[in-house]
Amino acid sequence: EDIRKLIVGNWKMHGLKSALDEVDRLAELCSRGEPKADILICPPATLLSEMAKPCADAGFLVGGQTCHHKLKGAYTGEISAEMLKDAGATHVILGHSERRLYNGETNEQVKAKAEAAIEVGLIPIICIGETRMERDSGQAVAVVSQFLAGSIPDEIEDFVVSYEPLWAIGTGLVPSPGEIAEIHMAIRQRVGGDIPILYGGSVKPDNAERLLSIANVNGALVGGASLKADDFYGIIKAA
Ligand code: PEP
Repeated sequence: EDIRKLIVGNWKMHGLKSALDEVDRLAELCSRGEPKADILICPPATLLSEMAKPCADAGFLVGGQTCHHKLKGAYTGEISAEMLKDAGATHVILGHSERRLYNGETNEQVKAKAEAAIEVGLIPIICIGETRMERDSGQAVAVVSQFLAGSIPDEIEDFVVSYEPLWAIGTGLVPSPGEIAEIHMAIRQRVGGDIPILYGGSVKPDNAERLLSIANVNGALVGGASLKADDFYGIIKAA
């Protein structure tokens, strides 16, 4: 596999201005050994502009956690793909399970958001994954395939898929390497050879090497362990 690994930090609704110290610390850690992976930090939108410069200096990319499906307009409280791009973002996470769960995002909406992202030159990171019940009843591959079919625009070349089993997010639980390999192979067959496929769900410094060595795992989407530079660096080092 010659897809360059991508390690994404999803800060979710964490991070005040003081979090810029973590960027400095991460930059210092990464400057000691040349990281082999691309590093992308997705902070709350309020921090994007301020983080863009120190991140660029350190060689890190920055991204958004969601965007609106319309390019602009009377949508109070929303953030457009172009605003993220303008603030320095290269990527945007779309259809994270928390957005699907708490904000009722559907595949159709995720697809429309991805189209808006592409239109302004942002790379969408489309998140998909099964529940514990779906896995236990043998439907994981089918569910993931349905998400893929429903949320990826037809005319899209550059995107990232992140496989995130819902029961593994923030729980400390991780699928077996065989289970991850099976899903990533199924995704690979549908998206083709050039698309990075990330794994997300309780990735930590002590399991990162094992997870990142599974076939068709081209990187990780990291929640909790991305908030502290030392933890995040532990994962970056493993890539
Ligand atoms: C996530 O936010 O997508 C995630 C995988 O979180 P965590 O790493 O905390 O499980």
